[in-house]
Amino acid sequence: MIEVKNLNAGYGKRSALWNIDFSIPLPAFVGIIGPNGGGKSTLLKSILGELTPLTGSIRLFGKPIAEMKNRLAYVPQINSVDWNFPIRVMDVVLMGRFRPNSWGPFYSKSDREKAEFYLNAVGMLAFSKQQIGELSGGQRQRVFLARALAREADVLLLDEPLAGVDAGSGERILSLLSEYQKQGRSIVMVHHDLLTASTLFDHLVLLQTRLVAAGPIKEVFTLTNLQTAYGTDVSILSEMIHKLGQTPANLSDHP
Ligand code: ADP
Ligand code: MG
Repeated sequence: MIEVKNLNAGYGKRSALWNIDFSIPLPAFVGIIGPNGGGKSTLLKSILGELTPLTGSIRLFGKPIAEMKNRLAYVPQINSVDWNFPIRVMDVVLMGRFRPNSWGPFYSKSDREKAEFYLNAVGMLAFSKQQIGELSGGQRQRVFLARALAREADVLLLDEPLAGVDAGSGERILSLLSEYQKQGRSIVMVHHDLLTASTLFDHLVLLQTRLVAAGPIKEVFTLTNLQTAYGTDVSILSEMIHKLGQTPANLSDHP
């Protein structure tokens, strides 16, 4: 279970999230959706414990998240990482295997095998000796995904993992995530494409600085909720409906 209670979060004196309350049973594949600036990344950073809430609490499997960090893995939003740091792709992925309490800075044979396995899974094994700074944005994104997958954590947090990734790699990543989730692990993922959101996730959190709705996708992914979240920017909705050729089955509201 992931439980968010009365969460207010922000930066300095500015609030970005107001009174967020929801709980979702785990394991689950949870999508966080909503318009730009809606607080999606802020919620993810709060769950991760990277951002201290102004009020409220977040619990994972019944415990405060501060005690659960070793059960989380995280893929940051790609533009928030410093790329000038000289480090090879393989070493980035190996960092995913690092455990603070382990003996020394050495990785085992199995750590290396896991790192290779996940680099291969994201289609980046051929780049393992390259510097991370030499890669394109989409390639870096895939390397950071491999690093997070290599942790084999109970809960994987991702912030727009498909941003800047080409369509082919994107599909590969989505099926990789589905596989990961089928192994009984959970994924909490910020996602901006409503079309894929409508089929990918089993639970949704819909944010517009406040919580519009959270719960099973059938209950949350309704025209009314989406209009509340995206407001007058209905182009995003009509485009989706156009692409599907009809009103999506998941949009359960009647006209
Ligand atoms: P989303 O991920 O949904 O696009 P964010 O959570 O990144 O939204 O941002 C929510 C609000 O918080 C926005 O108004 C944004 O400008 C503000 N914000 C985000 N990050 C910072 C930061 N590091 N410092 C100050 N304000 C921030
Ligand atoms: Mg964001």
